Amino acid sequence: MDEDVFLVQREKMVREQLARRGIQSARVLEAMRSVPRHSFVPLEHRHLAYADGPLPIGQGQTISQPYIVALMTQLLDLQPGEERPVLEIGTGSGYQAAVLAQLAARVHTVERFPDLSRIAGRILHDLGIENVQLHIGDGTLGLKQFAPFSGILVTAAAPETPRELLDQLANEARLVIPVGGRGQQQLELWQRQGSQFSCTEIAPVAFVPLIGKYGWQEGAGHSLW
Ligand code: SAM
Repeated sequence: MDEDVFLVQREKMVREQLARRGIQSARVLEAMRSVPRHSFVPLEHRHLAYADGPLPIGQGQTISQPYIVALMTQLLDLQPGEERPVLEIGTGSGYQAAVLAQLAARVHTVERFPDLSRIAGRILHDLGIENVQLHIGDGTLGLKQFAPFSGILVTAAAPETPRELLDQLANEARLVIPVGGRGQQQLELWQRQGSQFSCTEIAPVAFVPLIGKYGWQEGAGHSLW
C-alpha cells in the first residue's frame, strides 16, 4: 500500500473513530492526523494499521486502539507552551510517544523490553521525531531525575496507581492509567492539587499488564489483548 492510501485511511480514522466518538480537542485530532500510525505497525499487520482496534507488536504486547490513544492523550490536557516534560510508561511501538511528541516540548518514555524500545527508537528517528527520549527499565518507578512532569500516561494496566508516579506529577498536572484486574480495568484520571490528588473513573478498558515493582509481578498468567 502506498502513502496516499494510508493518508486517506488516517483521515477516515480521525473522522469516524475519533471525532465522531467525542474526541473534541483540535490539537489531539491534529496530532492523530499527523503521525503515520502504519510506520509503527509490524509489516504483517500494516494493512490493518488504521482499523478500529489494537494490533500485536511482538513480545506479546500491543499498539493500542487509535481511539484509546486519542482519549488518553486528550485527558492529559497538555497546554501549548508547557516546557516541563511528559512521561509515558510502556513505549511499546512508540506510537503513543510520537503522538505526545506533537503536543509537548519533550517526552520521556519507558519500556521494559529492550527490543521493543530499540525498534521504537529507530522508527521515531526515521520519522525525524527528535523530542522523545527512550528509557529501558521498570516504569512503575517513574523517572525521578526528570520530574516533575506536566503529564504522565501509563499504557499498561496496574493493580493500583503507583504512588511513585503520582509524586512525580507537577502541580495541577494529570496522570492517566488503566487500573483493575487482569481482564478489564477502569481508565482513571488523576489530578494533583498541591499535596492532594483527585481521581475520576473515565471508561472501562482492557490493557496488557504493567509488570514491575509497583505493578503486577512477572510470571503470573495473563490473557489480555
Ligand atoms: N504505548 C504503546 C504504543 O503506543 O504502542 C502501547 C503499549 S502496550 C499496550 C504496553 C507496554 O507496556 C508494553 O510494551 C509493555 O512491555 C510495557 N510495560 C509493561 N510493564 C512495564 C513497566 N513496568 N515499565 C515499562 N514498560 C512496561
